[in-house]
Amino acid sequence: MRKLLRTIFLIDLIEGLWVTFHYQRPKYMCTDQYPTERPKVAERYRGAPRLNINPENGETLCIACNLCALACPEKLIVVGSERNEKTRRKELTTFTYDISRCMFCGLCEDACPVDALELTQDFELASYTREGAIWDRQMLEEGPKPTKYKY
Ligand code: SF4
Ligand code: SF4
Repeated sequence: MRKLLRTIFLIDLIEGLWVTFHYQRPKYMCTDQYPTERPKVAERYRGAPRLNINPENGETLCIACNLCALACPEKLIVVGSERNEKTRRKELTTFTYDISRCMFCGLCEDACPVDALELTQDFELASYTREGAIWDRQMLEEGPKPTKYKY
């Protein structure tokens, strides 16, 4: 009987509408004024990759060990290196990172033994071409050039 009354008086519909309109109140509404105001992302957000450099001498922290490339399930990192005959150490020559295939899982970052590779909180990864999604060493060290927006 109770179920029949609920059906006749559309109680379920009214309850559903109440929940919907309850969340239409201005205090629950949120509009980010992006790009004039950048939204805050979560503390543990993983975004644009960065190759860190030593702030004291400006040299890369990367030791070209290739562990990040091996850890990546997508195999999108390519590390180029050559042996310095004087120091007998491997030195980084090239580093490419295809962000179009990246799922930002962070395995590469975790695999890096010297914290050279880091996924930052930068979320602006768009580019106009597929080639633009392949970041080279310079882009990874300096960050991508900002896109020009028209307001
Ligand atoms: S975040 Fe994951 S998918 Fe992206 S490069 Fe690193 S290991 Fe590969
Ligand atoms: S970024 Fe880290 S893990 Fe990758 S090659 Fe450089 S030192 Fe090795």
